[in-house]
Amino acid sequence: MDDQSQQIIVTGLVQGVGFRPFVFRMAKLFELTGWVQNTNENVKIQVTGTPRNLELFLHSLKKEAPVAAMIEAITAVEITTQPFTEFKILGSHDVSEEITEISPDIAVCEACLRDIDQPGNREDYAFVNCTNCGPRFTIIRDLPYDRAKTTMQSFAMCPACRKEYNTVLDRRFHAQPTACLDCGPAYELYAKNIRISTDIAAILNHVSLSIANGGIVLIKGLGGMHLACDAFNETSVERLRNLKNREGKPFAVMFRDLEAVKYYAETDATEEQSLTSWRRPIVLLEKKNKSGQPILAKSLNAGLNLLGVMLPYLPFHYLLFRQLKTAAIVLTSGNFSDEPILVDNQSALEAFASLADLVVLHNRDIYNRTDDSVVRIIGGKERVFRRSRGYVPAPVRTDLDTEGFVAFGAELTNCFCVGKGQKAFLSQHIGDLQGLETTLFYEATIAQFIKLFRIKPTMLAVDLHPAYISTQAGMNFGDFPIVHVQHHHAHIASCMAEHHLDEKVIGVALDGTGYGPDGHTWGSEFMVCDLNDFKRVTHFEYIPLPGGDLATEEPWRIAVSYLYKVFGAAFTELEIPFLKKTDPEKTRLIIAMIDKHVNCPLTSGAGRLFDCVAALLELVQVASFQAEGPMRLEAIIRKETRDTYLFTRGETICFDETIRGIAEDIRQGLDASAISTKFHNTIILAIFETVNVMRRSEGISKVVLSGGVFQNKYLLEQTTELLEKNNLEVYSHAIVPTNDGGIALGQLAVASKRREIKCV
Ligand code: ZN
Ligand code: ZN
Ligand code: FE
Repeated sequence: MDDQSQQIIVTGLVQGVGFRPFVFRMAKLFELTGWVQNTNENVKIQVTGTPRNLELFLHSLKKEAPVAAMIEAITAVEITTQPFTEFKILGSHDVSEEITEISPDIAVCEACLRDIDQPGNREDYAFVNCTNCGPRFTIIRDLPYDRAKTTMQSFAMCPACRKEYNTVLDRRFHAQPTACLDCGPAYELYAKNIRISTDIAAILNHVSLSIANGGIVLIKGLGGMHLACDAFNETSVERLRNLKNREGKPFAVMFRDLEAVKYYAETDATEEQSLTSWRRPIVLLEKKNKSGQPILAKSLNAGLNLLGVMLPYLPFHYLLFRQLKTAAIVLTSGNFSDEPILVDNQSALEAFASLADLVVLHNRDIYNRTDDSVVRIIGGKERVFRRSRGYVPAPVRTDLDTEGFVAFGAELTNCFCVGKGQKAFLSQHIGDLQGLETTLFYEATIAQFIKLFRIKPTMLAVDLHPAYISTQAGMNFGDFPIVHVQHHHAHIASCMAEHHLDEKVIGVALDGTGYGPDGHTWGSEFMVCDLNDFKRVTHFEYIPLPGGDLATEEPWRIAVSYLYKVFGAAFTELEIPFLKKTDPEKTRLIIAMIDKHVNCPLTSGAGRLFDCVAALLELVQVASFQAEGPMRLEAIIRKETRDTYLFTRGETICFDETIRGIAEDIRQGLDASAISTKFHNTIILAIFETVNVMRRSEGISKVVLSGGVFQNKYLLEQTTELLEKNNLEVYSHAIVPTNDGGIALGQLAVASKRREIKCV
């Protein structure tokens, strides 16, 4: 049969991930001639060969693409052309200035790990990488993605590396960060500010000895510094908490391998897939209750049953575990609590040389700071809670014209977002915009994204809250039209954008706090909305929040507020242990505050109701980390309980009867697990009944769930199940955080819609 020719366009993330050499190899395999070329938006391929081979080639493009490539679409059209004599990769000078997609960082691949074992110029080399793996976003200063525009610029390639770099069939063809022992970056070891070694074998020895002896080691990684210690050593873990300034949050643990993980945590196939994926996120797993030895330090995860687990992703991690006796180390961000992860060598030494036992640095600069990402498998799907290393800066593809938008995000768990064409580039996790360091990181990263993605800002989007630092940043950004988006509308719009929804939906935003246009603090919003606007149909009844933000940190205050609302002043006579532990003087003060409306903002935040129940069950009085109450409440759920408490639905949804029931159950000595489960079931039922009424009155069957409360696995799974069983179409977040880290995408979507329909 005669040869045919095709032009093939591949879109998606196909640049900087070894896609062109892959195309080259496949073309050779199927004896095709033609060329492959990067353009600004896609990869273009022209091929000539037998129809059968063209078909096989197309099939292999889909099925065998490099792991980190994210193919969006492949379109092939038949063309008539003069056949070529060979297959060529068109030179990198053809790469347009406008390339907008940058690969996230990729965990070291199997082939590179084998190189570490071979004698030669990469034996035990901790910076080994190839076109299929290695640093990307963290080292990129500018585009196009060329070594000169990365922090590898200062390392001149040796002749051997250069040769591989230029050899089309080599695994390191055009691998920008490629390096070897002769030419690449190297680790160095410090003890108390004194450099004691640059020899990798010696460094690994010192570090593993120190960890075995209970030491704490600061280790420079891919997107920032980590602090490490033996995850089985209670004293070390506690010391690490103090060293970080009384950090209360659970620590992430890196295990030697999957087998070790499975010994300590429950995993299913999806969780294992996330753990071993090239993104190598921290996966939240259920801890196994082991009686055997050794046991993980109790203070790792604040006594919760959920454990943040990850597998090695850097060559250094693999090399270290070869030396370590322990199967697991704490690997937490190298910073003081509430500050961003440290990236530069000097500040790391200044901060930690005197605190940590050892400091391991290297001389490859980190340009884009990233934390380890955090995911949880809910309903069989990976849900990203903290989107950073391995995920950023892959865009979220929308159906909206987002060109020129800058959305500034929320205040806590901040991410911002910039728009290019229909792509929304959500920033890496920035953190809580409260300390100066985080605010500086925020501002610098906005500038970096604008430069990197060649954004020409035309319109801005901010939260409705006038006092948010993010809102202020937007207001001071420059003379651009600005759209203010209500926090919970942004939550729902974010989930809509993720699912390409552009219509009227029922939105359920269960959240901590967000500014409401009525001046109260919202956070349990049932709305009918589209991307442009929303109508708040109902919400959880308002409750005074004695002390404002302080009550969020001290859930016992919220419990007092609820008890006072439900039982009046007589609540102090209730026979529940919670009251025996609260200071009567403080309780009287809180009642006086509520009576006189002093510093008692009203809130409908669902998170606060969870806080209240957690406090009543004595799971938390004063929170030592964000969402501690809800997390502890979820941790004790017993899935077989189907019971619920009473609640009433009028203009708002009132849980007075729920609180009454809980107090009675506590008095009767029902165990906390059963009460927590009944409480969760009550919330699920309240969501369903409310949504069901809205469906009937509005004629809408699509339900969008968003807000931080839906990080709760039981709540999201059971709510989804109940709604779907009743023929509602349910949408929840997966690739975008359901917490405030996803807010910026929603702001961007709302602003873009309003521009489209000329509302702004
Ligand atoms: Zn590799
Ligand atoms: Zn070299
Ligand atoms: Fe929120």
